[in-house]
Amino acid sequence: MTTDLTRHAGHDLARALRAGETTSREIAEAHLANAERDNRALNAWLVIDRDGALAMADAADARLAEARREGAAAVAALHPLHGLPVALKDLVSVAGGQCTAGSRILEGYRAPYDAHVTERLREAGAVFLGKTNMDEFAMGSSTEHSGYGPTSNPWALDRVPGGSSGGSAAAVAAFHAPFGIGTDTGGSIRQPAALCGVVGLKPTYGRVSRYGIVAFASSLDQIGPFARDTRDAAALLHAVAGRDERDSTSAPEPVPDALLHLPDDDEAATALRGTRLGLPREYFVAGMEPGVEARIREAVAALEAAGAIVEDVSLPHTDYGLATYYIVAPAEASANLARYDGIRYGPRLADGDGGVLATYLRTRGEGFGAEVKRRVMLGTYALSAGYYDAYYLKAQKVRTLIKGDFDAIFAQGFDALVAPTSPSVAFPLGARLEDPVAMYLSDACTLPVNVAGLAGLSMPCGLSEGLPVGLQFIGAPWSEARLFELARGYEALTADADWRTLEPTDLSAAVDPAAPTPAERLAGATAA
Ligand code: GLN
Repeated sequence: MTTDLTRHAGHDLARALRAGETTSREIAEAHLANAERDNRALNAWLVIDRDGALAMADAADARLAEARREGAAAVAALHPLHGLPVALKDLVSVAGGQCTAGSRILEGYRAPYDAHVTERLREAGAVFLGKTNMDEFAMGSSTEHSGYGPTSNPWALDRVPGGSSGGSAAAVAAFHAPFGIGTDTGGSIRQPAALCGVVGLKPTYGRVSRYGIVAFASSLDQIGPFARDTRDAAALLHAVAGRDERDSTSAPEPVPDALLHLPDDDEAATALRGTRLGLPREYFVAGMEPGVEARIREAVAALEAAGAIVEDVSLPHTDYGLATYYIVAPAEASANLARYDGIRYGPRLADGDGGVLATYLRTRGEGFGAEVKRRVMLGTYALSAGYYDAYYLKAQKVRTLIKGDFDAIFAQGFDALVAPTSPSVAFPLGARLEDPVAMYLSDACTLPVNVAGLAGLSMPCGLSEGLPVGLQFIGAPWSEARLFELARGYEALTADADWRTLEPTDLSAAVDPAAPTPAERLAGATAA
């Protein structure tokens, strides 16, 4: 172990913990110190719960000591996440804790119970460091739509980290936690993973229970892992996946043990031989940055050199993905967000004796940000009488066509598709705020996966303009273990690549206590 515990992968920390080389408390302290130091510059965390984290760490240390007394089998039975820090997106319910979903309308709200993933992580012995920043109700691709100020990208503080799970991605990239939880409705795990240079997976729809997660678009939302390598991301998925009676859309599909036993370097690289990968031509979208395309083509060449068979394929309905998504997601959001009425959750803004309608109008008018209001209006319109057939129903039909494109490819025996995650590297803060469609296009390569209910993984594949580029692997439903094996293979192939040694900005030097926070910069920019 080097002295800086935050530079290690979770699986290294797990080994050191069991070997008695460190403690969960030491690991938590080291990560909390980074998070507390950097947050002024990054705004990745909406709350850092030092006391709660240390109490969980002490409990994990006590449990490990007890397991040691019980014997080697008891130690071996501890989950790989035991005693290790996790960053939770602030839409995951943790009993008694805040859960803002990035919205002012949930300021001060306390979750009355644990989400399913929270329970599972507690059982695994994980340590919660706090809650991370996000676009309001997960609507966005930059974390700039947060009601609590934007998050910065740890690679370049004047750039976005992606979104909506930008806080978790930035926290993992900046060595605040080896593990992060996000949600992905149209790309919100994979796109920030790409822009921050970490691994992120959007599981198959139904793989992880959504119980206790603030809903955005219920037929698209999935919870998934962030980590700095594939083994850690797979272990985190393993901890949270599986059937839960409280979410009827969670599937009884077994959670593969293979997630905990990804192959080592040599075996992983060898396993690529003979793998059949499709390269969807529609994913090389107009306006894609040349540096991004170059990295993707190089990654494909490396996979081919390792013996993978890569074939050009076509997903002809890709172009309709964005339009379909922006009917289905706002429609479902408008229904899900109807519950924030000032009566049941969060602050209630009454208007003199204007009655209940005035309370609704003022609470929602002031509590929701502009992007959320835009979605609620779009969705309400698409669902209104006379328009339902023309928009929502039509979008659901197109959705079937998009899914059909993927089904046809997987029926031909392809192991996975390989594609870019994002057409650009991290863009400057503010660059897409005035143009919602430019912001929406950030997810052109990720949202078809949600529309079709598939699994998708993003991992780093080099840099362009000094910023991370993400490589996406897309798999058939329930193919997560296979996707992780492929990704592990690519990771092994590039283990010695020069870009692997590069890291985000050293924030210990960059954090100027006198400099404005991202929230203050935003306020200044809006005022100007
Ligand atoms: N950027 C997309 C949106 O704004 C996807 C967000 C997400 O996956 N939560 O809806």
